[in-house]
Order: sequence, then structure tokens, then C-alpha cells
Amino acid sequence: MTSTFRRFFTGSTDSNAAPANGNGVKSTEDDSNGAIPSTEATRLLGQINNGQDVEDPGIDLLHPVPEKSPSVKELYFNESNPTVQRYYRFAATPITPIVALHKKPGTGGSAIIQSGVTGLLRRSTVVPSHGTDESGDWILVSVGGRSGWARKKLPHQHFSGFTLADKFQATEAWMGNHAFLCKGKVMLGSDSPSLFFTNFLLLVGYALQFALVIPTLLKIQEEDPNPIYHYISVDIVFWASVAVAILAFVFLWVTAVMDPGIIPPVSSPVKAPIPHHLPIGGPLGYRYCSTCNIFRPPRSKHCNSCNVCVSEFDHHCPWVGTCIGERNYRFFFMFLVNISIMTILTTLCSMLIFLHTYLGVEIDEDTTLLGHIWKAISEIKIIFVFGSFTLLCAWSLVSLLLFHGMIISAAQTTNERVRGVYSAGSLDNLADKGCWRNWFRAFCKPVAVTRLPKDMSDTAECAYSEEETVWDEDAHAAVEDPTAPTINTSKNKNGADAQEA
Ligand SMILES: [Zn+2]
Ligand SMILES: [Zn+2]
Repeated sequence: MTSTFRRFFTGSTDSNAAPANGNGVKSTEDDSNGAIPSTEATRLLGQINNGQDVEDPGIDLLHPVPEKSPSVKELYFNESNPTVQRYYRFAATPITPIVALHKKPGTGGSAIIQSGVTGLLRRSTVVPSHGTDESGDWILVSVGGRSGWARKKLPHQHFSGFTLADKFQATEAWMGNHAFLCKGKVMLGSDSPSLFFTNFLLLVGYALQFALVIPTLLKIQEEDPNPIYHYISVDIVFWASVAVAILAFVFLWVTAVMDPGIIPPVSSPVKAPIPHHLPIGGPLGYRYCSTCNIFRPPRSKHCNSCNVCVSEFDHHCPWVGTCIGERNYRFFFMFLVNISIMTILTTLCSMLIFLHTYLGVEIDEDTTLLGHIWKAISEIKIIFVFGSFTLLCAWSLVSLLLFHGMIISAAQTTNERVRGVYSAGSLDNLADKGCWRNWFRAFCKPVAVTRLPKDMSDTAECAYSEEETVWDEDAHAAVEDPTAPTINTSKNKNGADAQEA
């Protein structure tokens, strides 16, 4: 658990207040208890869809890609989460910046902690309630797979408590650690400050390239007829720099604001049913995420920084501030391509300028080579430091670009590569269709429809027609564990109907 996660909520799932549905599922975040052998998982994943070969192992049979992005209401009043009764708002104040969720409801309206705390909410939020206690003063609320009892705010109380939310914005009930701009219209990842630092670095780099490096090169070409300085046209350097500067910004921001492929969490005290018809556990099986309370598909991962599960998770990029996954990977790669070109261009220009200065600098007969170089450096200090910096950047960026080129060719994600999922040779990578088809899939396959509302500033109007009921722990504890949960009949990524299992 990272500090960013603690910002919002801390707690455990081992609470009395969160009755499991008897399936005894343990989190498979870090272990593969109950996992079927990986080779068997490989075979099953290829032939799971009613016995037919699944063309694309990236298809999530449990959370199929929707035909259109859901509305806020569809996201938060989801069929897969039938126990949601109401939404309640907790407004953090300077006096009560956090609120505790309890294992059991208090008695007699007392706020005294009698049963222990299951977690702490650390910011203003809107959370679903699943029922009340006998007195009606306490509600069972949940954040993903973590639940606890909270006290409703009573009319005479001035301190903070939970109030009924008749209307709430999508961002208010969002469990992730994302940052929102423009009143929620723009969603950034959890590391949004570092995105602005990246923008600042790019701007400083562009300013030096256009205000110092290119004008110096132009001056050299005008003054010095030596053909070595005329192999590169300053016009080409200028327009190429303009093009890659604009494209780098565009791809950086598209990557940053795009949903990387988040699989929405299910906030419920009832644990997600085990999908017995799918391979579970191991590197190629569905794995239970106790934070999101979902069985996430193979190739996906829970990002501890953003606090959500991401489909085809590649890595969490601190420079872009968000996760790189199924939906934004190609734009991230194009961002890398453009800043690599930019740093190579700047490094080459700086080298030419250094060469010109080195050859032109006046030296005595007894000046050593080092003294000669030092004299040249001191004539163009800023360009030398900037050029050295871009040389280091170009080196790292080109290495990174080659690494991503290699994993695209092998149809792997950075996460799979780092974990060495296929390195032992015991597992077949079903996504690997050959080098060219892998590149085609990475860049030409239509971007999957987002599972989130297109505009997170939209609101959900809640007309609660039915009375709130008392939470019946036994009823939910007795919920039969469906071995073959119904899957939405919406089109999956291949355009084929996902089956009713
Ligand atoms: Zn998760
Ligand atoms: Zn992330």
C-alpha cells in the first residue's frame, strides 16, 4: 500500500462488517493460491469462449468493452453491484478531516468506537450504502472491497457526518487517486504534479533550442564556409524541431488525459463471485483484486499509485503522471518517439557548435588538449551544459524506445517483461501473432471504448424510490456463489457477442 493510497482510504478487508459471500476468496494480489497450472491456464484462455478459440487474449470476458461509454448512473448503479441502496456524502472539514468506518454499528447513537475501525476515509467523498442498522442511524458503506459502518449526520450535529446525496458528480464517488481539472472534465493520473514538471522541462528545452542553439548554428553557417557546418540545413532543423515539439506536447497530453483502460471497481461488502468458468490465479488467469473487489483479467494489474485496476497494464509513468495501459500505450510510444527525435536533433546541433568553437578558439603553443577543450567549453557554457543534458536524455530515451520496440514485437507489456512471465518458456504468449501483426495490433487496432463516463464532470441524479432497508448480513452471507455469472451481451473487442455463460 503506497502513501498515495493512504491519502484517500486506509483499512483492511478482514472486517466483520464486510461479510464475504462464503466463497472464501483470498486476495490474489501477491500470491497465486488456488491457481491452476499456468500451462493449463494458457490452454484454457485460448479456448474459453464456449470452446471456440479466442482470437485476442486481451478480451476481458468478465468486464467486456461496452459499445458506448456508460453514464454516471450506469457506472455507480451497476447491475454487478445490486446491494447499493443509497449514496452518502462525507464532507471533510478542518475540524474533521478524516472519518472512521467501524466494524459494527454503534449503539444508542453513540460515536464511541466499540468494535474497532475497519478503515479511515481521508478526503471528501461520496460512497454507496448497502443498508442501515436496526436504529437507522448507521449505514454500511464501502470503498471498493473495503466496507465499514458509518454514522449518518443527525440534524442537531454540527460536526461532519454522512449526509444523503441526492445528486453527485462522477468525480466525487471516484475511488481512484486521480486529479481532476476543469471541474472534472479533464482526468489526470495520480502523479499530476510531475506531469506539469515534464511540461516545464519540455518548455525550457524548447526555449533553449529555438532561442539559443538554432540561432547560433545559423550564425555559424553564415560566417563559416567550411562544408562540415552546411551538411545540416538550419531550415530543416528548425521546422523539424517545430514539428516534434508540437507533436511531443500533443502526445504527452493525449496520453495523460486519456483513460488508460481502467476497469471500474465494485464497491460492495459482498465479494465478487468467483468466475469458475475462467482460469483463476497465476500469471495468465483472472486474479481477485481485494481493493477493487473485482476479478481482473490476465495482463491487467492494480496500480497502487492510481488505486485502480488497468487493463493491459504496461507501467505507471511518473513523467506522464498516469498509468500506461491498453488505451493510451500507442500515444505514449509516439510521445517517446518525438522527444527522442528532439533530443537527438539538439545534441547534434550542440556538437556542431562545440566543434566550431573548438576549432575557432585562440590558443597558445603550450596549451594542452584539456586546456583547449576547457577554453572552448567556457565560450559556450550554456550550450555545452544543455547539449550534454540532451545527450544523456537521448541515450536514455533511445534505449527506452528500443525496449518498447522489442516488447511490441513480442506482444508483451513492460509489466510482463519485468516479471519474466514468458521468460521460462513454459508459457505461450497468446497475444503474440508474429512481429508485424503485433505492431499492427499495437497501433492500428481501434482504441477500445472506455468503461468510464466520457465526462467525469457529469452528475447522477438519484431518485431513491424505495425505503432504505436494514442490512441483512445472513442473507448476503448465504448468497450462492454462481459458478457461471451472467456476462453482458454487449459486443466484445472482437465485435463478437460475449457469451451468456
Ligand atoms: Zn484493483
Ligand atoms: Zn497509475
